[in-house]
Amino acid sequence: MNLLQVTNLSKAFGGVQAVQNVSLALQAGELLALIGPNGAGKSTTFNMVGGQLAPDSGQVLLNGQDITGLPPRAVWRRGVGRTFQVAQTFATLTVSENVQMALLSTDRRIFHWWRRATAHRRSDALALLAQVGMDAQADRPCSELAYGDVKRVELAMALAHNPQLLLMDEPTAGMAPGERVALMQLTRQIARQRRMGVLFTEHSMDVVFGQADRVAVLVRGQLLAEGTPQAIRADARVQQAYLGT
Ligand code: ADP
Ligand code: MG
Repeated sequence: MNLLQVTNLSKAFGGVQAVQNVSLALQAGELLALIGPNGAGKSTTFNMVGGQLAPDSGQVLLNGQDITGLPPRAVWRRGVGRTFQVAQTFATLTVSENVQMALLSTDRRIFHWWRRATAHRRSDALALLAQVGMDAQADRPCSELAYGDVKRVELAMALAHNPQLLLMDEPTAGMAPGERVALMQLTRQIARQRRMGVLFTEHSMDVVFGQADRVAVLVRGQLLAEGTPQAIRADARVQQAYLGT
């Protein structure tokens, strides 16, 4: 069974058909890159998988269970995590406290148990930070970190909920080219270890063709092609519509 199965998903905004009959499948442990020009419908697709937008038609299955149109919180509870284009950390908290906050957000009795919970979740936060190589900086305020390091803290925060599927919409936006590859290499390692699926959008072709297991190409709301990086790079229609080579 596929971890994620998206079938014939469509969404229009007024007269704009943002996404039209898009189907995608993703296995556990796999990285699928969704690429395409600006306005192609990538974020709209993400938002329909994550529950931020209800599709006009089509279906989203997670491990065979229908999650179509469920609200974001319900989708999150079923194991779908998200990172955002602009890193969402608390600048005044330390690196470790940010991850402890993310761990706490899985706790329903957040206010009652705040003090006790933060004390014994510190070791869990450090373990997550070690996975992204940030444990040595656990006690620095996030405001002091380089942007690439903030993105790694954000990845640790997303992992706090132990997602089966991680949605990353332009995770490397604003980063230097070398940092981009490093972040997605790290994400790939973690995805393999945890058997976590990752759906991501990315403009850097170095990252897409170097790190993704499969690539899906959206153009004007429609899926133009889907396949291995090698097959997509060699596809004449993709070259004409998007890669410009
Ligand atoms: P991408 O992420 O690939 O750049 P989007 O999914 O953001 O593309 O947008 C796809 C199309 O849908 C664009 O034409 C965009 O202007 C339109 N669109 C996206 N979100 C909205 C919205 N909330 N209201 C109206 N139009 C939107
Ligand atoms: Mg977008």
